[in-house]
Amino acid sequence: MNNEPSTKKALKYKKRKLSTSSNDSSSDAFISDTEYTFDSPNAVCSCCYEWGEYLYKCSRCHRKYHEDCHIPIIIPSNEEEKEWQCTLCKDITAISKDLGKYDLDDISDKTVRRKIIDRILMELLCRFKDIDHFRDSSPRTIYMNNLKKNTKPTDINTIISSLRKNEYLSLNTIVEDIKHVFINTMSCYDVNDPYHKSANKLLEFFNRMYDKWIMHTFE
Ligand SMILES: [Zn+2]
Ligand SMILES: [Zn+2]
Repeated sequence: MNNEPSTKKALKYKKRKLSTSSNDSSSDAFISDTEYTFDSPNAVCSCCYEWGEYLYKCSRCHRKYHEDCHIPIIIPSNEEEKEWQCTLCKDITAISKDLGKYDLDDISDKTVRRKIIDRILMELLCRFKDIDHFRDSSPRTIYMNNLKKNTKPTDINTIISSLRKNEYLSLNTIVEDIKHVFINTMSCYDVNDPYHKSANKLLEFFNRMYDKWIMHTFE
């Protein structure tokens, strides 16, 4: 990669085993970012929960990220290296107040809509280890979707990839795709299956973020 992080900025750690403990946050976690504390030292990316040799550290919450796991991808910039803040630390509630002011349903880079979607995806990735099960479609989900001739994206990685390629043309389409991942999983697994329960929990969390940051602008 061209944008090799500088050694000054990068944090280097010895490889160590990933913790297997659950990282479930309280359901209100996204409202109060500052309550989040780190176990230190921590060499694990907050998005993918994998060890990383070079991780970027947020100056505010001290979470660490691989540059291409964070949404949006971290662009190394010398001036901002000390003050860099992750997407989870941006005041998205303030930003979301501008959402209804624009008629164009544009979610390209740097638009208010994009910032909200970036935040929602980061919340899902960083708050719940369960999200790992939805990054790629499970074999059962793929099988069931083939039967149903379902062509919508059924995993979070596909959605993130499409977003980064600016393939989404409206806020509504990506909102529907994210919800579809969870609703679709719930339809493929029995109600008592851990997969179903996990999807239900993540959908509820998603809906609360939607209500807080998007829905209010259309009321
Ligand atoms: Zn990562
Ligand atoms: Zn942060």
